Amino acid sequence: MTQVKVMKDILQTNNSVAGTIRTRYDSEGVLVLNFVSSPGAGKTTLLERTVAGLKNDMKIGVVEGDLSTSLDAERIAQHGIPVIQINTDGGCHLEAWQVNSALAELPDEHFDMLIIENVGNLVCPTNFDLGEDKKVLVMSLTEGDDKPLKYPGSFTAVEAVVINKIDLAPYLPAKVETMRENALSINPHLKIFEVSCTSGEGLDAWFQWVRDLRAAKGTRLTGEQPTNA
Ligand code: MG
Ligand code: ZN
Repeated sequence: MTQVKVMKDILQTNNSVAGTIRTRYDSEGVLVLNFVSSPGAGKTTLLERTVAGLKNDMKIGVVEGDLSTSLDAERIAQHGIPVIQINTDGGCHLEAWQVNSALAELPDEHFDMLIIENVGNLVCPTNFDLGEDKKVLVMSLTEGDDKPLKYPGSFTAVEAVVINKIDLAPYLPAKVETMRENALSINPHLKIFEVSCTSGEGLDAWFQWVRDLRAAKGTRLTGEQPTNA
């Protein structure tokens, strides 16, 4: 009974800080993405690819969550964009207060998009709202095509799934199509991308989705009506 109450309090406090983050970036027209995945699925590599592909179109900032190292943040920093590291000291997910403190450390400039890389863990990060517009789940084909069935809670909590490492398909028992079908069986509203961050295959569709989200958010800021062609 007590435990349930404590958990509820933690989530209420978290949601209140997340609401503050969301209100701020909504008013500034900044797109905020939250990347979640198991360890090793390729969040950082997708992040690097995304930064390289879009940094000429938009001003990007990154918040890197990591258990104990700054290795991923160093990889991102090599692309010449602002990145703030959060070491959770073993903590298995990011909470909104941590993200809020990290965002305060970013240079005082206008960003078009902020990307948060969560701690590699598919169990609890999706329980914690970080004030993002969209949660994106990165999944590697090497994890097995039954992954969505094993972690249904994570698949119902996100808006998009990026199936990574599709270049390895010929060498794996897992099938991209089965992974896609399993993900959609859990959450039929998912936007699904099939990519290889190694070969670059499929990344154009992902970039376009991010550009469209960013454009829709920026349009709201200037008060123009999005055109629904
Ligand atoms: Mg990483
Ligand atoms: Zn956790």
